[in-house]
Amino acid sequence: MNQPELNHIQITINGTEISVPSGSTILEAAKMHDIIIPTLCYDEELTSYHACRICMVEVEGRGLAASCSTEAVPGMEVLTDTPRVVQARKTILELLLANHPDDCLVCDKSGSCKLQNYAYWYGVDAHRFKGKKKNRVLDTGSPFVMRDEGKCILCGKCASVCEQVAGKNVLHFAWRGFGTRVMPPLDTPLDETECIQCGNCIAVCPVGALSEKPLHGKGRSWEFEEVETVCPYCGIGCNINLNIRFGKVYGVTSCKESDVNGRFACVKGRFGQEFINDRARITSPYMRKNGELIPVSWAEAIHHVAGRFESIQRQYGGDSMGVVSSARITNEENFLASKFARTILGTNNIDHCARLCHAPTVVGLGKAFGSGATTNSLGEIEDTDFILAVGSNISETHPVAAFKARKALSRGALLAVVDPRRTELAEWAHLHAQIRPGTDIAFLNAVAKFILDNELADNKFIEERTENFKEYRQSLTDCTLDWAAAITGVPQDVIREIALQYARAATGMIMYTMGITQHAHGTDNVLAIANLAMITGKVGREKCGVYPMRGQNNVQGACDMGALPNVYSGYQKVADPAARAKFENAWGCRLPEKDGMTLGELLSAAGEGKIKSLYVIGENPVISDADSNEVMHSLRNLEFLVVQDIFMTETTELADVVLPAASFAEKEGTFTNTERRVQLLRQAIEPVGSCKPDWKIINQLASAMGYRWEYSSPKEIMSEIASLTPSYGGIDYPRLSKGGLQWPCPHKDHPGTRVLHRHSFARGKGRLHPVVFQPPTEQPDAEYPYILVTGRRLFHYHTGTMTRKVEGLNQLMPVECLQVNPANAEDLGLTDGSRVKLTSRRGEIEIEVVVTEAVPPGVVFTSFHFSEVAINKLTGGRWDPEAKIPELKRTAVRIEKTEDCLMSSKTAGRE
Ligand code: SF4
Repeated sequence: MNQPELNHIQITINGTEISVPSGSTILEAAKMHDIIIPTLCYDEELTSYHACRICMVEVEGRGLAASCSTEAVPGMEVLTDTPRVVQARKTILELLLANHPDDCLVCDKSGSCKLQNYAYWYGVDAHRFKGKKKNRVLDTGSPFVMRDEGKCILCGKCASVCEQVAGKNVLHFAWRGFGTRVMPPLDTPLDETECIQCGNCIAVCPVGALSEKPLHGKGRSWEFEEVETVCPYCGIGCNINLNIRFGKVYGVTSCKESDVNGRFACVKGRFGQEFINDRARITSPYMRKNGELIPVSWAEAIHHVAGRFESIQRQYGGDSMGVVSSARITNEENFLASKFARTILGTNNIDHCARLCHAPTVVGLGKAFGSGATTNSLGEIEDTDFILAVGSNISETHPVAAFKARKALSRGALLAVVDPRRTELAEWAHLHAQIRPGTDIAFLNAVAKFILDNELADNKFIEERTENFKEYRQSLTDCTLDWAAAITGVPQDVIREIALQYARAATGMIMYTMGITQHAHGTDNVLAIANLAMITGKVGREKCGVYPMRGQNNVQGACDMGALPNVYSGYQKVADPAARAKFENAWGCRLPEKDGMTLGELLSAAGEGKIKSLYVIGENPVISDADSNEVMHSLRNLEFLVVQDIFMTETTELADVVLPAASFAEKEGTFTNTERRVQLLRQAIEPVGSCKPDWKIINQLASAMGYRWEYSSPKEIMSEIASLTPSYGGIDYPRLSKGGLQWPCPHKDHPGTRVLHRHSFARGKGRLHPVVFQPPTEQPDAEYPYILVTGRRLFHYHTGTMTRKVEGLNQLMPVECLQVNPANAEDLGLTDGSRVKLTSRRGEIEIEVVVTEAVPPGVVFTSFHFSEVAINKLTGGRWDPEAKIPELKRTAVRIEKTEDCLMSSKTAGRE
């Protein structure tokens, strides 16, 4: 017999001796050895109420016992299917069914209902006991989730998931005895509560008490084909199953085995896919004729675009042209877009919207660590001891990451949030540093100085793993707590406490989003964060690290693939002759030597007439980019604008040619999520109309311009990527079909890399950079006295082209509003629903007001999702000198009341 493992015990189940970790329950022991015991209330990720007893087993010398709550002890002998056990389970099922409605035949969960399945397997007659039926409370008002309380078996899983994962407490137990119910507070309908409609209660509900509203009509689970793919929204890259029937997406179910998100998803991932089949999809190419966009054939459109590109190239040269690629198309498509720009147009003028979100991360973490990527993995969030979230509102922007943070908090982890707004995440936090916008460096430097001065730093790590410490420490001399408090507005004791907690935590991580990057000093902000992680030795280790949370689903991949003006795929520099020669050899042509223009530079140059044509793929810069009026001027000034997208947008309105692209559900490829995980996108349905995947369109254009690329599939493109990109060297489709791989994955036997910089940084030693606080460039004055901060909302995404086609999401958030502090509202005579004119040094918009303590006095907030309130007409300001990102997070504005009106109750409710 094998030696028993340390801290393991031996028990016998059904006559077979097994070894399990001591402290395991019988149920856990059985699961570890694939022995099936039925469960209803048990969930390995949630607190169990041990209520249903269906997991009954027989224990030698003890009799019947609930396996979920009975600890396995050495020598224990367990039988899981004796006649006594089976009879007990049957009786439990009969009792449950006695109180249950008799409409199994028409229940939406039929087929996936555990109660129904167990009754079938155990041959239970529902009519032995005549029980009183539960009250039939039907709650169907919310856009996505239906509640039928009569079917509830009081397992409590929905209440647990709501509290422990979503952090909401919307569903919980009420009353006692037979009258016990699971319901929202005071029996409020779900749509009038704080429910975030994540649907995770549906994912864990074992019966039909909670179910999703059908998207295109009802259907049984077995009628749908489930196609596993990747959510098209944020950078978490959740895995979802698209439910397909008759060539249409009918809904989404959990992808239980996902390494990224398990069964959990957010409202957009689970319910936000209605846009795929929306009637407004562009289904054929369009060309502008006599001032109007007219549908044309593919042949005509491709011929025209190829001809115009060639003539502009001949007349003005390749550097008069540019490609705006996309964080929403696949890796393979970004790789081709980059190759198209460099080899066919003959320019490095390619960039994408990472310029507006994480360009400072690519530069800053690149300088500090040698790699601009998230250092660790999403799964580690659940197990860390301390989370420092700076300029990050993940409960709205990356909800599944917030669910993981919530689980960490349930385990006892501490959370500190640094944010000018009192966000939901700040409400969860143990410490909230309500910082003045744009003063992060003062805060971060003071935290670092306090750690160093109080001998809380990891000196061994500093000594062995970093360089430039002396200069760095010297630069912090004046960064005292009182200095930082005066600049940031954060009390000294809060700064001190955050420093103490982060430094003392055995494991701790720093998360940041665009509150850090979208500044004229975004790169310095990132460097200050990297410094902090290095002086505490909290990088290169499990459950630690730096998490720049990527906003769009494939921002990481678009950067990895070289959709940037200065690097080829894998961040191989255009300026490096060896890298250039490598790509020239592979692609069989000379490549331009000079770095191309960034997105902002391209648009500015277009405005000045220096850029003549742009090929915009899957982006809507009129709404997403800073200073919209200037963007429109620039685009209008082009000689030729091609836009490739799935819907008509404010940018297609200015195009000469519009090419209809396939959505994520209609094509194959890969996305790389925020933890560097490359994941397969599987085709679920045929492209609608005559749409084509972006890679096919680029391929066709190349052919029409005389280049015989002839890629037959994204798989083939990935082979080329792997051959040219060391960090993707071991990635191929057969491997990805078994699960995602985190780069670096340099060869076919490499398992991928969960934690970066373990033994040395990608650049060798980590470099500590002195960063000096400088006041933000955009300052309020008498004319523009308020600071506008922009951000994202839970129920919408980016410029709204997808989410605003989803009826339920529009119901949850129909209009955008401006958050104004009560003190400022009083001064300005504003109440909820007032309309105001918001004017900056660049433009003006009108918007509804909501009065809320979520923003401090002097600061107002709104999002950029709604074209009716195109907030980027106001933003702009100075660019970060290295990352070339505009100061989107800080705009001086004036607020003038125009009229009062009734605010949408939904919007008001969300504030
Ligand atoms: Fe999709 Fe992000 Fe939500 Fe996950 S967290 S379901 S990736 S939007």
